Amino acid sequence: MSEVFLLKDGKGRAFLVRPRLGGVFHHHRGTVPHEAILEAGPGGVVRTHLGEPLSVHRPTLEEYVLHMRRSATPTYPKDASAMVALLDLAPGMRVLEAGTGSGGLTLFLARAVGREGLVDTYEKRPHHLKQAVENVRAFWPVDNVRFHEGGLEEAELPQEAYHGVALDLMEPWKVLEKAASALMPDRFLVAYLPNVTQVLETLRAAEGLPLRLERMLEVAWREWEVRLPVAHPRFQQVGHTAFLLAFRKWKAS
Ligand code: SAM
Repeated sequence: MSEVFLLKDGKGRAFLVRPRLGGVFHHHRGTVPHEAILEAGPGGVVRTHLGEPLSVHRPTLEEYVLHMRRSATPTYPKDASAMVALLDLAPGMRVLEAGTGSGGLTLFLARAVGREGLVDTYEKRPHHLKQAVENVRAFWPVDNVRFHEGGLEEAELPQEAYHGVALDLMEPWKVLEKAASALMPDRFLVAYLPNVTQVLETLRAAEGLPLRLERMLEVAWREWEVRLPVAHPRFQQVGHTAFLLAFRKWKAS
């Protein structure tokens, strides 16, 4: 698998490219042979045949997730990085995830736990899983993610084996009991929920389980337009993405 590059034009528009022999990148202001991109390398600049300059980059994880192919909508990077913090992940830890979707959150989890860690991720839709495997492998060629096809509710999970559980699926309340039993005591289960109705249903499902709600939050992220001498918040912003619920597991007594 060849390396992934990110090209940026003068308007800040970004494009992911995986150069291949004889390949050509098409921009609306001209074309660039893939070889020229490889030659310029990260930090360099290429020009289309019509003279449009494009800067060449190695994509950051945020850039990659925002521009990669998607089967399901990825967890927004601002929320994925907050989930890593709420889960208190560190190198060597084991994480359970569902659903894998396009693999966006999987990448944040896999990088946080590193080479010595492990992400077990479950996805019930085969074509989503296929896209996720492709996305994850193209950016993160490290063998610390195990992809599982199937609903988390049907999975056979070891008890108290995971340092964290990350859920981004429609009906987390259906898998909450199973996920909680796979979680180590005093560790965190974090759910990403776009709708407040999902929040209420999840809170109801947590009653009677060894899970205590520790945090409920939204991640506000306000981008600014800086073109000196002018600087102001952008007129168009990312609005609501999701609520994050962080539960901590009680020890069974
Ligand atoms: N976090 C993902 C990302 O960053 O790309 C996006 C997840 S997407 C919003 C939700 C995914 O959960 C869908 O692909 C769906 O098929 C999957 N899903 C829904 N219920 C599931 C379940 N019970 N077990 C496993 N996967 C499930």
